[in-house]
Amino acid sequence: MKAIFPDLEGKRILITGASRGIGREIALNLAKQKAHIIFNYRKSEEEANKLKEELIQAGAVDVTALQFDINDSDSYQDKLTNFIKETGAIEGLVNNAGVSKDQLTLRIKKEDLDFVLDTNLKSTMMLTNFLSKNFLRANNVSIVHMSSVVGLMGNASQTSYAASKAGIIGYSKSYAKELASKNIRSNVICPGFIETDMTEALSETAKEKYISQIPLGGYGSTEDVAMSCLFLLSQASRYITGEVIKVDGGLYI
Ligand code: NAP
Repeated sequence: MKAIFPDLEGKRILITGASRGIGREIALNLAKQKAHIIFNYRKSEEEANKLKEELIQAGAVDVTALQFDINDSDSYQDKLTNFIKETGAIEGLVNNAGVSKDQLTLRIKKEDLDFVLDTNLKSTMMLTNFLSKNFLRANNVSIVHMSSVVGLMGNASQTSYAASKAGIIGYSKSYAKELASKNIRSNVICPGFIETDMTEALSETAKEKYISQIPLGGYGSTEDVAMSCLFLLSQASRYITGEVIKVDGGLYI
């Protein structure tokens, strides 16, 4: 699929959790739009360098790799402040990094709940809040949060995950109302079942059950999510904010 959003050329966009899955695909597709990609990774510097090379080959005007854990705000504040000072304001943000920990409600321990809520919800809010002063100095800012269709429809054994993803929607809508007058937009994507490591972890029975409930049939691809993300980041969606877009093959109609 080839879509072109000319205003993304040179735009400085930060993507969290870009080492694999949906985040990586968004980075690759932004590279094709010639964006300046700032991607976050946690673990391997070697892998991050490989991704950096790949993004440059794909067309990115510039690539900055930043190592940090989104749960540790001390680990990113200086890095982002320095980047902004040296290079310019960050103009787009994709809050993609996320985790799941499926458990029956009766078995959830406090540390498991903290892990899911902190990573998916609190860290998204902390990072976005931290960057908000910077956004005031940028033009046409667009923020995209990766929620989940589970945050809309619920799912047995995913109470923590669903609550964290539903929380993102409330946050994004409130943020959109608060900052619209500054030309800062905030939208949410709710993927359904997309083929990545996260869904690979499901049992074959669970996978078959989910697929049977998807009207368009089968799993979605990371590219399906990336295309919607590009649209929301670009000025093609300039009159859209506080919106929630499902990319779920009709799972939750
Ligand atoms: P994935 O393949 O498991 O990748 C998750 C990404 O998040 C990895 O890059 C991981 O980095 C990063 N990450 C996790 N915790 C982090 C932390 N504390 N700090 C920094 N990075 C962290 O997941 P995915 O399927 O691509 O999912 C991406 C997003 O879409 C998530 O928010 C997920 O909830 C959402 N989503 C996915 C699906 C789906 O079907 N796949 C459906 C609905 C919503 P490491 O490589 O270092 O672990």
